[in-house]
Amino acid sequence: MTSLPTTALVSPALPAAPRVGERLGRYTVERVETLPEMQGTLVLLSHELGARHAHVIRDDDNAAFAVTFPTVPKDSTGVAHILEHIVLMGSQRYPVPDPFFAMLPRSLNTFMNAMTSNDWTTYPFSTRNEQDFFNLLGVYLDATFFPLMRYESFRQDGHRFEFQTPEDPTTPLKLQGVVYNEMKGGMANPGSVMWRAFGKALYPDLTYANNSGGAPENIPELTYENLRAFHAAHYHPSNAFFYTYGKLPLERILDGIEAHVMSRFERQVLDVSIPDQTPFTEPRAERAEYPGTDTERGSQVSVLWKLGLSSDADANLRWSVLSDVLLGNAAAPLTRPLIESGLGAGLADLSGYRDSFREGAFAVGLKGLGAGQVQAVETLVLDTLRAIVQGGIAPELIESSLHQFEIGQKEVSNAGYPFALQVMFRMLGPWLYGGDPLTGLRLDAELERLRADLSAGRVFETLIEQGLLNNPHRVTLELAPNPELAARTEADEQALIDRLSADFTDEDRARVVAESLRLKELQAQEHPLDTLPTLSLSDVPPSVPRVPYRTEDAGRALIARIAQPTGGLTYLDVQVRLPDVPEDLLDALPLYAFAVTRGGAAGQDYAELSRRMEAVTGGVSASVSAGVRPDDLNALRLSLSFSGKALARNAPALTDVIRDLLAAPEFTRDRLEQLLRQRLAGLKASVVQSGNAYAERLAGAQVSPAGVLGERFGGLSALNTLKGIVEGQPGAEETGAGQEGGISGLDDLLARFGRIRDLILTGTPVLALTATEDDLNLDLGGITGLFTGSAPVGRPAPATAPRTPQARTTDSPVAFNAVAFQTVPYAHPDSPALLVLSRLLRSNYLLKEIREKGGAYGGAASFDTREGVFAMSSYRDPNIARTYRVFRDARAFLDTPLGQRELTEAILGASKVLDPLTSPDTAGRMRFYSDQAGYTPEVQDAFKARLLAVTLDDLRRVMDTWLTPERAAYAVVTGRDPNDDTLKELGLTFDVQGV
Ligand SMILES: [Zn+2]
Repeated sequence: MTSLPTTALVSPALPAAPRVGERLGRYTVERVETLPEMQGTLVLLSHELGARHAHVIRDDDNAAFAVTFPTVPKDSTGVAHILEHIVLMGSQRYPVPDPFFAMLPRSLNTFMNAMTSNDWTTYPFSTRNEQDFFNLLGVYLDATFFPLMRYESFRQDGHRFEFQTPEDPTTPLKLQGVVYNEMKGGMANPGSVMWRAFGKALYPDLTYANNSGGAPENIPELTYENLRAFHAAHYHPSNAFFYTYGKLPLERILDGIEAHVMSRFERQVLDVSIPDQTPFTEPRAERAEYPGTDTERGSQVSVLWKLGLSSDADANLRWSVLSDVLLGNAAAPLTRPLIESGLGAGLADLSGYRDSFREGAFAVGLKGLGAGQVQAVETLVLDTLRAIVQGGIAPELIESSLHQFEIGQKEVSNAGYPFALQVMFRMLGPWLYGGDPLTGLRLDAELERLRADLSAGRVFETLIEQGLLNNPHRVTLELAPNPELAARTEADEQALIDRLSADFTDEDRARVVAESLRLKELQAQEHPLDTLPTLSLSDVPPSVPRVPYRTEDAGRALIARIAQPTGGLTYLDVQVRLPDVPEDLLDALPLYAFAVTRGGAAGQDYAELSRRMEAVTGGVSASVSAGVRPDDLNALRLSLSFSGKALARNAPALTDVIRDLLAAPEFTRDRLEQLLRQRLAGLKASVVQSGNAYAERLAGAQVSPAGVLGERFGGLSALNTLKGIVEGQPGAEETGAGQEGGISGLDDLLARFGRIRDLILTGTPVLALTATEDDLNLDLGGITGLFTGSAPVGRPAPATAPRTPQARTTDSPVAFNAVAFQTVPYAHPDSPALLVLSRLLRSNYLLKEIREKGGAYGGAASFDTREGVFAMSSYRDPNIARTYRVFRDARAFLDTPLGQRELTEAILGASKVLDPLTSPDTAGRMRFYSDQAGYTPEVQDAFKARLLAVTLDDLRRVMDTWLTPERAAYAVVTGRDPNDDTLKELGLTFDVQGV
């Protein structure tokens, strides 16, 4: 191996911070603060026009930008959300329909998005390429400050009338629009309904009482004029918060913003302040409903409190710590009695401290409830809190939570969000609400005060008494399923359409037809994208990063030691390659992985073990995965992996925890039942949220051996297996998932868990230890010594499911459509072309046909290079047959005029898949495990070389070869039986089952 990287973080190339008071153009440097934990510097500036700018100097190749506007809607027409969509649909300098989506493939960004929260809207991106940074900066500034906001855009993404057959005014009138459909889907999702109801219940007089995303019944009230006025008022430098991060020169960035934006505006005054909510004099009860049929276990009850200002740094820290003390793990003093009450399956959504309102909130409750449990949950919550105050909180619990804080402050990881943007989201709350943004990043003073107060007396018990028990600003909120709501919503929509069109004249109808045709015409127009900046293929790094590590053999085990600047954290991964897993254990494997870190071990029950993990680790998780060899799609390898992290001083204790979980996990019947109920509730909720992923897995299982396992481990079959165990139904017989080995109940499952544990210890362990060089000599013998038996690794590929179009019906007003094809393994020469094809179809075809024309929230193509599955899918889609026609016509699209630009963009997009954003915690272990699985740098570079040389003819050829109707498998997750004549014409007859 080559030499190890040094742990020094400060490179000489890092620009110096400006001085306080220094003028940079019309900007003034207000503050400069060091950020010791993350080895960075925060610079706060203000502009003459009133704009605020926060710049973080940090030695990170991934640079970031965001502009955020406080947006405080006064109604539920969704104006802020619709505006977020519209500003991305063409601007003065870039007058193309979708500059944002058009930039996706012209850039090597590591993050691009726009988000509307309940009181702000933000436009963030990050990239590792300097040219790309300034390209995207120009596009983002032009989009947000100088959008065209065309009337047609408003109609396409906001709302519009359209006849069912757009050119025929005698067909029924419909309401359409991307946001309109997005929110119809959103309001069918219990999590979203809960979030809206939460704000409305606790802050009924404030902006939070509105649905900032837009309530479907109110969206049609939004006028084009209101939209433009909202933009003029809010998207103005005087109301803007800019954020930049990285090591690019600040002055060059500020000059760009000045020239492009600031120089073209006058100062303007806008009051976006949110007043205090008038306190309640006594507690209230509220109820919300979502469309659902699970009246047995579909309800949630949560008790909510309004707290003080979330910008108060001391209070914010204390509530965050208290929230973790009370609810941070399974044994926590509030969690455990709630769960062990047996009333519900898990904690209610949004439980814990929430600082995403100007005045903070605390919530706790249960979900997975039947009807009529409101009083029982409220009493249980209040009694438990009283008991906690009375008994006092053990100091060890507070220490454990403070320890979790220490990990959070030290960790530098791109997991989830790029770290470059995590920094902004940490400071955004206090910054926008008028507090000190630094407190989001540096809490040393507040921590010190907290420690001093803790040594002087009861801090958190008093906080519970004053903030919760004696606080009359409390709401007990019930969220319940209503089986009639879906039908009623549909009837209400029809009534709304009838009312709005009651006095439509023939001219009005003609206008609707004309506007529909005009929109269609515009959508069909080709727009030269030459105005948009772009990168070229020479910007793609030709080879993947070689991250050094050293390996050693330890008996049957292989260990990699990886030196990385981890900020003082140690990461340990133990991947156990399993021997041939008997058929009847397969369905139990993902349940084992879920339960093993949540049960007990080595003589400790689950509560003791979870307290131990909280005290010495930053979390330990387990997962099961199926790996595929680069040259053979049928060569599958199953692994069970444990991953954990800890402060370096606790690394030996982390090793002990993982050893105990491997060798001596303990499951009790009661605890397992609780866990399975929680998992079932979570999976059920995810179906309407991620229906496209479920549909893709259902289709994938019909074409790919790895897909079969994907479906059994994480698809609707897994859900059915679980339902069979928990609800005592005959285990998943209908899906064919459990055929012979159907798990008949808890005792049966427990017996299988015992066999899985034994099986694991006959596997082959492959360990990755990531830490700073000084902390790499950790003794891992306690783990490697467990593996004594020996068994052959690998398993024969499972047979794919019969090739029949599958439909699964659930409580969803919209559909998720998918088609999947089995193609070729990674090392096959056609694999890079398939990856490029997926990018081309996604950006240039499906987005337009399914989202813009079809009114779905999303449409995508993807190619899993390792599993060899090519898929097309749609998300929150009002159509089924139409979308399958779009999928089918993808080949014809390849014969339309396509040029070098489209190809280059698709290749750029594909190359991003090969160069994922890594961070010190992931870079080395990803390299090591890829090497172990046969995806060495040489194999990956060869793939890349072929990728960069893909031609349009290659795309047509691989499509004709691999994506043929005979190789296709279809699946849809939807609200009703999809079979109709139009689908029959397409040759599709779906086998329909309930979820
Ligand atoms: Zn949206």
